[in-house]
Amino acid sequence: MNKKMYINGDWIESISGKRQKIQDPADSSIVGSVPEGNKKDVSKAINAASDAFKSWSEMTALKRGELLRKAYDILINRTDELAKILTMEQGKPLSEAEGEIKAASGFLHWYSEEAKRIYGETIPSSDPNKRLMVIKQPVGVVAAITPWNFPASMITRKIAPALAAGCTVVIKPANYTPLTAIALFEIFEEAGFPPGVVNLVIGKGKEVGDEFVTNQKVKKISFTGSTKVGKHLFRESSNQVKRISMELGGHAPFLVFEDANIEEAIEASIISKFRNAGQTCICSNRIYVQDSIIETFTKKLAERVSKMKIGHGIESGVEIGPLIDEQALETSQDHVEDAIKKGAQLICGGKKPEVEWLNGNFYEPTILSNVNDSMKVTYEETFGPIAPLISFSTEEEVLQKANDINYGLAAYAFTNDLGRSYRIAEGLEYGIVGMNDPLPATPQAPFGGWKESGMGQEGGHYGIEPFVEIKYISFKLNR
Ligand code: ADP
Repeated sequence: MNKKMYINGDWIESISGKRQKIQDPADSSIVGSVPEGNKKDVSKAINAASDAFKSWSEMTALKRGELLRKAYDILINRTDELAKILTMEQGKPLSEAEGEIKAASGFLHWYSEEAKRIYGETIPSSDPNKRLMVIKQPVGVVAAITPWNFPASMITRKIAPALAAGCTVVIKPANYTPLTAIALFEIFEEAGFPPGVVNLVIGKGKEVGDEFVTNQKVKKISFTGSTKVGKHLFRESSNQVKRISMELGGHAPFLVFEDANIEEAIEASIISKFRNAGQTCICSNRIYVQDSIIETFTKKLAERVSKMKIGHGIESGVEIGPLIDEQALETSQDHVEDAIKKGAQLICGGKKPEVEWLNGNFYEPTILSNVNDSMKVTYEETFGPIAPLISFSTEEEVLQKANDINYGLAAYAFTNDLGRSYRIAEGLEYGIVGMNDPLPATPQAPFGGWKESGMGQEGGHYGIEPFVEIKYISFKLNR
């Protein structure tokens, strides 16, 4: 799979001619190669997006929506093909990859319809000779940077609302997963977006990012990735007061109360914790279980987790694929060793699987009990298949612990008590709360973090807001 970048409607090599190889994280085999762009390639893509902006923003919303709908139709028909590419370069089990492609197409579908609903407002005036009006207009060229853990849905979650709003886009996918991005752009080309409306550049994060934040033609940065890089982009964007929205790291608490349905809470914790081998920004990082049920919960969870099938994501029945790279493996190992050193008990997992043919970045799904606040797992993002269990006795205590962190992306709670549900849902200082629900993310709802987990929302009608400017117009009438 030797692929190219997509700029101004053409598939092109980088100006320097440099290319980079893409590896399968399950066995380190080479699955393809792509160009490695630099500042000049990025500037070329930004110029193309800037040139295309006028005619694209002047096109009717109806027509823009139709093109998004066409892209949806093509993508949904190619779910299997794209899911395989995704699993090959990213590692997640094929069934999860299929789920991601469906979610990715869901954003195209939802915003194909929302394009025509970007309404303004008229405001009653206190002056009888004035008429006041508010309209929303596209912000301009959008530069978007996406991560490797959801290589398809993070792209459409940004591109679809941006295009619906009338913006043109330059995307930089993560360097581990450009092949999925390229497959998506083949679909955008087939759908018939005019040249320059969507552009794909591939290159080193810092080099591409520096051009994005300094180029005056870029009016908006949309970023999903680590808090560290997000803060850097935020600082750099401030020089031009560039619009920026960011979805950054998380450290989700997962609360299980004694009145919850334990079986359901266990299944939910498995989905929330071990999906994508724990490499999602909304996956649970701290599992708080009420002291009266923690023994039963731990036993049942361990029975289920120790049977999880590890392997190459393409094989059927695999639930745990590889981690993205060696660094990720080292973080998981370090967090487990640190917790054990400080008194945690290892219930299962805690090492690389002892199977010779599993020579990729695999780590066994792991449960730790007796976890306390001094351990790294409770305050650093692990991004691996590690489930730390912490006991609590009261609602107040667990709420205080759950909120005592600088992250605020997603939180989960399991209870069948209605009053408690409301108290907990309202008390959690997080942008997303799953009440008895381990999978709250969906195209029609807002997704975004509080505190250092980000700013701005993606999804639903909220997802349009980062891509429009508000304009207030006052009409003075001649009498
Ligand atoms: P992670 O790899 O943990 O998801 P990163 O923030 O390192 O998070 O990467 C997310 C995206 O940001 C990737 O596309 C990566 O290439 C890009 N990136 C990394 N460093 C920078 C930077 N200095 N400026 C802009 N983008 C960057």
